[in-house]
Amino acid sequence: MPNKYDAIIIGSGSNGLAAAINLQKKGLSTAVFEQASTPGGATRTQELTLPGFKHDVGSAILPLGLASPFFRNLPLKDHGLEWIHPEVAYAHPFEDGTSYACYKDLFKTVEQLGEDREAYLKLFGSLVKDWEKIDEDLMAPLRFPKYPIAFMKFGLKALPSARLLSNYFFKNDRTKAFFYGSAAHSTLPLNNIASASFGLVLSASAHKYNWPFPKGGAGNFIKSLLDYYQSLGGELFLNSMVNDIRDLPNAYAFLFDLTPRQILNIKGLNFSDLYRKRLKAYKYGAGVFKIDWALSEPIPFKSEKCRTAGTIHLGFTPGEIENSERRIHRGSVSKTPYVLVAQHSPFDPTRAPEGKHTAWAYIHVPNGSVEDHSALIEDQIERAAPGFKDTILARSKMNTHDLERFNPNLVGGDINGGKQDITQMFTRPIISTSPYSTPDPRVYICSSSTPPGGGVHGMSGFHASEKVMKDHFKDLKK
Ligand SMILES: Cc1cc2nc3c(=O)[nH]c(=O)nc-3n(C[C@H](O)[C@H](O)[C@H](O)COP(=O)(O)OP(=O)(O)OC[C@H]3O[C@@H](n4cnc5c(N)ncnc54)[C@H](O)[C@@H]3O)c2cc1C
Repeated sequence: MPNKYDAIIIGSGSNGLAAAINLQKKGLSTAVFEQASTPGGATRTQELTLPGFKHDVGSAILPLGLASPFFRNLPLKDHGLEWIHPEVAYAHPFEDGTSYACYKDLFKTVEQLGEDREAYLKLFGSLVKDWEKIDEDLMAPLRFPKYPIAFMKFGLKALPSARLLSNYFFKNDRTKAFFYGSAAHSTLPLNNIASASFGLVLSASAHKYNWPFPKGGAGNFIKSLLDYYQSLGGELFLNSMVNDIRDLPNAYAFLFDLTPRQILNIKGLNFSDLYRKRLKAYKYGAGVFKIDWALSEPIPFKSEKCRTAGTIHLGFTPGEIENSERRIHRGSVSKTPYVLVAQHSPFDPTRAPEGKHTAWAYIHVPNGSVEDHSALIEDQIERAAPGFKDTILARSKMNTHDLERFNPNLVGGDINGGKQDITQMFTRPIISTSPYSTPDPRVYICSSSTPPGGGVHGMSGFHASEKVMKDHFKDLKK
């Protein structure tokens, strides 16, 4: 029997679709099988609160979607994608009502930083300048970099903890908190080795690309990917939970957009005991508690910079953020947690009925936690935006179990497909020169559990699909 497809992708998250598009573009026939009734995995938009209020259930701000070396070369604009760029990429408010803003313009950003002006330029100047030299290697498995000197310069700054780096570079507590705001996206304690790398990459991407989001909802990013994929002849099957690889049509290669724990439950895979043991040892990170609001007006931030920002990091001193991120790894949540807030509707009126607004926020929590932390989150926002609670028309809350029900890849509420500490940064899910391959020559992993890890960049899917091309379709490769 000839194979019905050359390759089958299991899971329609941004990585699954990146893999599917790359293979389909290269002339293969492919299909995507997705267990949910809507595609996109952790990138979907739904009316979670009231009719007409569109909320991003998972990812909401997609700088890496724009910066991704794979996605940025796709004709997604022709397939309906429109990026919205708020004036401020992200803002960090302080208790006195002032705030720091991260602008795309590095020089405008440093104007606010007083005595830390030169230090910020020293930290980010060369990184922003060299971005095009290092971005492909940053978003790839461990390999010899194309521009070793530029990459080494980045590596020297990225290897320390966020705490060490910010104490070394900055004098002012405000600048330290500002840097922590993006470093804490790592979901790691800020004294962990290499936690600085997240702050460096995310802030540099803001100075290079801003922190944009898709008009109408993050789900529209997926819509444009799918529209393009289907225009190339790719096929999508929804409501198709894959439990046994033998239930799928024949193909040369199967790419799993799943995390190790789920892959271990798939029947019919020809894995060695040793490989199974290594996948079992894979570590998951902290979870998140997520909340979405329908609002009668925009969040009434005291600071104008916050009102013009798409993302706001809350954590009023460096100590507050450090304490918050340390505690979750000891099994508890701080009373003043580090909060990530996103607001789209002030810049994108299609998100809510006329005159009304939406907001999105989460905090990090211990993996598997089911506690309701909505009061803590709302208290933190109220500190920067008095009167916020009075604007709430409705709210939707998701603890780590709700998130895992929404998408089984969010194991224990972990949004990065596994812990991203130094031991699992480039070497996920196992230490290997080819982390996308498995002992079964037909089976590959293409999810965020492979390098470069969490985020909507599609680069895990891209690299996994390149490996499939190399292993099975060398002669076809264009
Ligand atoms: C609350 C939250 C906020 C986030 N915020 C951001 C953000 O602002 N910016 C950003 O860049 N990233 C963000 N992320 C992270 C980002 O969404 C993920 O890193 C990204 O979606 C990973 O893509 P993926 O393709 O690897 O997996 P996923 O998007 O998880 O897709 C996996 C797909 O596989 C399907 N699947 C699972 N098991 C099976 C099976 N057995 N059979 C068939 N299908 C199956 C799932 O239903 C899902 O559709 C956030 C995530 C969450 C949850």
